[in-house]
Amino acid sequence: MATTMPNLDEQLLIGGTWTDATGGARFDVTDPGSGATVGSVPNATQADVTAAIDAAAAALPGWRSTPALQRARILRKSADLMRERAVEIATCMTSEQGKPLAEAKGEVEYAASFFEWFAGEAERVYGQVVSPMNTNNRVLVLRQPVGVVAAITPWNFPAAMMTRKLGPAMAAGCTSVVKPASATPLTAALVLRCIEDAGAPAGVVNLVTSRDAGMVANTIFTDARVKKISFTGSTEIGKDLIRASAHQVKRLSLELGGHAPYIIFEDADLDEAIEGLIASKYRNAGQTCVCANRAYVQRSIYDDFLARLVKRVSEMPVGHGLTEGTVIGPMINEAAVEKADEHVQDALAKGAKLAYGGHRLTEGEYANGAYYEPTVIDGVTPDMLIHHEETFGPVAGLTAFDTEDEVIALANSSEYGLASYFHTKDYARLLRVAERLEYGIVGANAGIISAANVPFGGVKESGYGREGGSVGIDEYLDVKYVLIGAVGTV
Ligand code: NAP
Repeated sequence: MATTMPNLDEQLLIGGTWTDATGGARFDVTDPGSGATVGSVPNATQADVTAAIDAAAAALPGWRSTPALQRARILRKSADLMRERAVEIATCMTSEQGKPLAEAKGEVEYAASFFEWFAGEAERVYGQVVSPMNTNNRVLVLRQPVGVVAAITPWNFPAAMMTRKLGPAMAAGCTSVVKPASATPLTAALVLRCIEDAGAPAGVVNLVTSRDAGMVANTIFTDARVKKISFTGSTEIGKDLIRASAHQVKRLSLELGGHAPYIIFEDADLDEAIEGLIASKYRNAGQTCVCANRAYVQRSIYDDFLARLVKRVSEMPVGHGLTEGTVIGPMINEAAVEKADEHVQDALAKGAKLAYGGHRLTEGEYANGAYYEPTVIDGVTPDMLIHHEETFGPVAGLTAFDTEDEVIALANSSEYGLASYFHTKDYARLLRVAERLEYGIVGANAGIISAANVPFGGVKESGYGREGGSVGIDEYLDVKYVLIGAVGTV
């Protein structure tokens, strides 16, 4: 292995103080690539979650009245500190999450870019002066911070999914309580240390780590001081949160699951399409919400494409994320390996062929980790699990198609609507297909689509709300209209 991480024991951050949980309980964090313990964090109680909300509520008046330029300065400084500490944060991320170190460093940069982007947006929160219906009146439209925000984040991008919420929340003048995934709480703590060291006042961001996500959610959803919850995670939990939000009519942003189609038309640049599919499918061992889950290849190029894809996939070394040269790291845990294998076995049982991979790796260096071979399945049909359920693993399933109408219907036949991709050199088709795909994100001749300056989010059961771009800050602002009467009469 390249670098190892020293055992890291972190704490909760409540009102500017790093502290243990009430009662002192902790839980261990495990390296999915080796099974070793890499650190531990406090197991917050309900009293700790309430204390974090208290701190966020207390910090709110001061933070929302802090000049936007000052909030922006703190965000930019937070980004700088993340970059200065990139190796430390990335090593921690690889140790608890598994992704190869190069990918982890890339995520630190991507995560920092949200702070920088939203520093700029903080400086440009504008209202409106609207022409009144009655000329005696004047009408103002104000955009104000929603208040205390709770952010619940997943393990697959432990830094970026958090900064994508904290960046706009801080920019808008909101204060936050963060609940990271219990598999990856250490990276979250390191990022919050950057915000704190950048000069954010006590209570502006608070961290609660807990193994009891249901308790945390219940405490947040029943506390009237929390005005908004931003959640990234599975569609299943997202639906629970929609139900929980009804009680106090909480504002929600939901970045949920995906099941991306990846279409390759016969006129595509095949080298570009293969690299695009590989980047989309195998990054983070296939554990991204925008991962290609179904590849549709036009019949005339299918065999050639499959052969070239298999050759490329066979060249991807599998190993611990800290081992030099690793391209495919471990999956997050054994349950994730089982799900990937279930999708492979289901496809094979229903008539697909195994073109490459298809096995767990359990011997030698893989013995104590959660490893699955990068896999290619030939001949996926709509009745197979992989065609309609999120696999969240390094398994590409290929289906041949004949016509544009046929493939659009197949691509849209999903309850998910997050990311979609296609490759073509025909520019009329490019616009037509981009418009017909029922997804929040379309990558046309591009397999990597995430960036801080674009509106990221889904339609259908992939959720609602957008993160990033010029609209990302709107999720943390309330719109208020002010009617000033009798101005024209004085
Ligand atoms: P998850 O199981 O839904 O967990 C996400 C977060 O919710 C974690 O912090 C988890 O805590 C917490 N949680 C668990 N049970 C909860 C409950 N009853 N109430 C409130 N919070 C609860 O999802 P995951 O497995 O971590 O992440 C993978 C999923 O996220 C995939 O479906 C993926 O597509 C989706 N995702 C979407 C996006 C996007 O932008 N659309 C981005 C990344 C990932 P614990 O860790 O303690 O269980």
